[in-house]
This record gives sequence, structure tokens and C-alpha cells, in this order.
Amino acid sequence: MNLQEINNIDIASKKVFLRCDFNVPVDEYQNITDDRRIKSALNTIRYCIDQDCAVIIASHFGRPKNGFEKKFSLRPVKQRLKTLLKMDIKLAPSIICDETLAMAKDLQCGEIMFLENMRFEEGETKNDPQLAKTLASMADIYINDAFGVSHRAHASVEGIAQYFDIEHKAAGFLLAKEIKYFSHIIKEPKRPFVSIVGGSKVSGKLQALYNLVPKVDKIIIGGGMAFTFLKALGYEVGNSLVEDELIPEALKIMDEAKAKGVKFYLPVDVIAAEAFDAEAFAKAVPIQEIPKTWMGLDIGPASATLFSLALDDAHTILWNGPMGVYEMDKFAKGSFKLSHAVANTYATTVVGGGDTADLVRRTGDEDDMTFISTGGGASLELIEGKVLPGVKALLID
Ligand code: AMP
Repeated sequence: MNLQEINNIDIASKKVFLRCDFNVPVDEYQNITDDRRIKSALNTIRYCIDQDCAVIIASHFGRPKNGFEKKFSLRPVKQRLKTLLKMDIKLAPSIICDETLAMAKDLQCGEIMFLENMRFEEGETKNDPQLAKTLASMADIYINDAFGVSHRAHASVEGIAQYFDIEHKAAGFLLAKEIKYFSHIIKEPKRPFVSIVGGSKVSGKLQALYNLVPKVDKIIIGGGMAFTFLKALGYEVGNSLVEDELIPEALKIMDEAKAKGVKFYLPVDVIAAEAFDAEAFAKAVPIQEIPKTWMGLDIGPASATLFSLALDDAHTILWNGPMGVYEMDKFAKGSFKLSHAVANTYATTVVGGGDTADLVRRTGDEDDMTFISTGGGASLELIEGKVLPGVKALLID
């Protein structure tokens, strides 16, 4: 995959349309509670300013329904970026109204302006060509640094890129880094290559599992999805999360792993609880002993030890999905132990998925991971082997 990158095109003193992913979490008072997504884009923004560009920044934020809604305004994000960059930033009143277009036209080299939330425009998620064309008309150069939304064919992500030739569009540093890590790990991993797949359901990760099995040396399954595999093997899993209709798929995946010589690990014990409740009575049990009306909400201590042991000789680890309901303290221990185990290896460790990224921050292992992806859905699609629409638009033939 030959991706056009920002440092390979001439952007000096040009007007740049920069698509970022500033879909940050906020509290009930609109205070930003985690600004990592903004900080991740600083490299590209600073590079543009150092190149004396006029920078028009676009992003989406939340899920507004009918045009402008104050609570989805990008104003707080603009303020935070202003603080981080220590420079003035203009905020347009909307996205493509006359006033905004005039602001974009008058923007001078070295200045930054923010468009309002892209999703205030109905055409954004519909990839409306007219909207894409108007957005493109604002600038000489298009840069996409919004990895988290690059799996969406939206007007400011995919449509807009069609209006620029390959010398006038490129991936920003963040997008390029994400793509490099994932394509490297999937195509030329140092072996043994171990993938840990967890999270709630098999259905959400079925395609990823099919794509991973022929590539990895070991696969570790945890989280709610493990119970469909365990049930497929004939275990009684009580009220645990099971997708009965996917039992044939689970068997197929395990057969394929066996045929390819891939070592397949499932939990040998779980933390079972009477109910899906942080206060529920819970205990560790072997998978053979899950009480009929109880549900498994975390891997047990023996599984954590087993999985850690399986990671010991790994040279590459790809992790997507927690081992249990880590949001509740009682069911977080398995995921925490695994996070420490991954962090303690000498492997190249790539963490994908919003929950898993959140988890390794909570465990304090963030700095010991080689790379933590900023996009959940987008990173999953890369593991599934797809070319993201926002990336396809930036490939050199
Ligand atoms: P996903 O979005 O598919 O990666 O799933 C992440 C979610 O899976 C987290 O919110 C976890 O709480 C949930 N999860 C993990 N293990 C279990 C389990 N054993 N039962 C139910 N939900 C789980």
C-alpha cells in the first residue's frame, strides 16, 4: 500500500483543508475529559503552521440530528486547541454558509480556522458530492489525519479527496502512523505473532477472526465472545453471553486454526456472577462449573496465568477487546492482569479498539505499549483486511 504522506507533497504557504477526528469525550458541562485525540493531531497542525500554511480544520463531534445544536458545537475543542498551540484560532459560524466561505477565503498564511461540526451538515454522512465539492473549493491541499473516521465514506473524509490530485492530497502524520503499524503487523509480523481478541460478541469480530487465524501463531479469546466458543465445544455456560446462531462459525474458526497449526486459547475458568451487576455475588469457577443461572463476566485467575504464559515468547502482540466487563471493578481483574502481562513482554504490542485503549490507560500500562490506535472501528476494519475509504482516496497508483 503506497500512501501519499504529508511530508512528500509541497504544502508551503498553501491553504490546507485538514480533516481531524476531534470527537472527544465531554462531561455534562461540556468540559473535555480526555484531550488525547486533539494532542494526537498536533504534529500535523504544527507542521502545517511551520510550512506557513493557512489551515482550515474540520471535524465531527458527537451525533447531532438536525443541524446546529449548541451542545455539539466544536467551540470547546477550538478552545483546547488554542490553549495547546498558544495561538489564536477562528471559529466559523457553520460549515458552508457564505460567511464561512468568506472566512476561509480571507484566511492568511500562518492562521488557523475551525469549521463547525461537520455533522451539522446532513450531506456529511451521506457523502454528498455537492458538499464535498464546496469543502474542496476552500483549499489548495487536502490532508486527512482523522484515522478514527477513515472507515467511513463521508464527504469530508472520502468525497472531498476526489477533488484533489495526488500531489495535492495526503495523509497527515497520525493517519500515516496508524496505517503503517497495522499493515506492518498484519503483513510482516515478527513471530511468534499472538493475537488477543476479546469484547462482547463474536458477531462484531467474526471477519477479524477469519482474517487473523491464517496470519497468527496463537490466538487468545476472552471476554463475552469466549462463551460462544465454549458452548460450541459442549460446555454448559449458564446465562453467559452466547450467540447460538454463530456456533457453527465458532467451530469453523477453531477447525481452521487447528488445520493451520495455530494454537487456540480459551478461558479455563471465569468469574461467574448471579447477575450483570457491579454488586452481584460473584466467584471464580472452572468453566466446567458455571452455575446454570449465573453468567461469566471475566476470565478467572487460572486463565490470566495461562494467557500470560502463552504471551511469554511473543515477538508481536495484537490486542483488541477486553477480557471481561472491565468497567465494573469486580470484573476488571482479568483484563488488568492481561494488560500487565502484555506490557511486560518484549514484543511489539499494538492495541486497537476504544475499550482496550481505555483499559490500558486505566491500568497504567499505556507507556509500555508500542502503539495504541486512536480508532476503534477503523482499526478493526484494518484487522479485517479492508482498505479504508478515507485511505483508498490517498493511495498513489
Ligand atoms: P466490544 O465493543 O465488542 O470490543 O466489547 C467491549 C465490551 O465487552 C465492554 O464494554 C465489556 O464490558 C464487554 N464484555 C467483556 N466481557 C464480557 C462478558 N463476559 N459478558 C458481557 N460483556 C462483556
